Amino acid sequence: ETTRIALLGLGDMGTAFARAWLAAGYPLTVWNRTAARAEPLAAAGAEVAATPAEAVAAADLVVLCLLDDASVGAVLEDAGLTGKDVVNLTTGTPAEGRARAAWAAARGARFLDAGIMAVPPMIGVPDSGAYVFYSGDRALFDAHRAALAVPAGAVYAGENAGHAALQDVALLSAMTGMFAGVSHAFALIRKEIAPKEFAPLLVGWLTAMAPYAHGMADHLESGDYTEGVTSNLAMMVKGNATLLNTAAEQGVSPELLTPFMDLMERRVADGHRDEDLTGVVGLLAR
Ligand code: NDP
Repeated sequence: ETTRIALLGLGDMGTAFARAWLAAGYPLTVWNRTAARAEPLAAAGAEVAATPAEAVAAADLVVLCLLDDASVGAVLEDAGLTGKDVVNLTTGTPAEGRARAAWAAARGARFLDAGIMAVPPMIGVPDSGAYVFYSGDRALFDAHRAALAVPAGAVYAGENAGHAALQDVALLSAMTGMFAGVSHAFALIRKEIAPKEFAPLLVGWLTAMAPYAHGMADHLESGDYTEGVTSNLAMMVKGNATLLNTAAEQGVSPELLTPFMDLMERRVADGHRDEDLTGVVGLLAR
């Protein structure tokens, strides 16, 4: 029997999930605080519920795609969750994911927290690379795996309900650092070199450097941060002076670079000249 899905929250992301399930023929009930956002989905075949409780009552699988964790609690306050399967696509912290799992369990529901690794145009598009981390109740994941795999790849991230958010946020944090670097690079070149000419070089270089994360992972697991190092930290710290001098020449603030460079210098000052960047990890984690 086909899973009856209720989707609460029809922003950009919720709407993309709704369209993917409708296109695949799943019976779908939707609800959104601002009712007008449900109208295009009604035209595409969705049932529209007047309240969250009504949407929940019509479904086996209840999916939330709201702004933040607080809105999840507010929206589900009056809904009967006993016997329901609840999947929370709303981005939150690992602690929020675990607390929400306990909250759902206390209301008699099975629960998965999720982290979406995609932007809305990638949802429902085969081979777009979009996927979602799900953590929490394994039986729920197995029971609804087919439905969950429709909008994007479904990746089970373990029984700990916080681990979908933890991996999601770790990836987003790495992305934040990457775009900090990209912003600095464009600031350096843009008065002298066309950004459109430079962009392919930037993408190529970041793509070539990204696999060094594997080497850092090997080092973190072996505990020997000098194994196989071809670019040593002392050399990199020396090179940082050239990066900073160039920023000064170009009239660009070094503020996005200096926090990371300070950590590299501390590690060299602590006597780790022959390592790669892995030692910075230990300086961050208290
Ligand atoms: P939008 O801002 O487009 O939509 C937010 C949704 O939350 C709307 O349906 C809004 O309702 C609803 N909402 C906000 N506050 C409340 C409240 N107090 N009570 C009830 N409903 C509320 O966001 P997105 O759809 O883009 O994002 C939804 C989730 O998906 C977020 O957690 C986001 O982090 C995550 N996500 C988004 C990505 C993206 O690229 N867009 C990428 C990965 C994850 P209303 O229409 O009434 O305002």
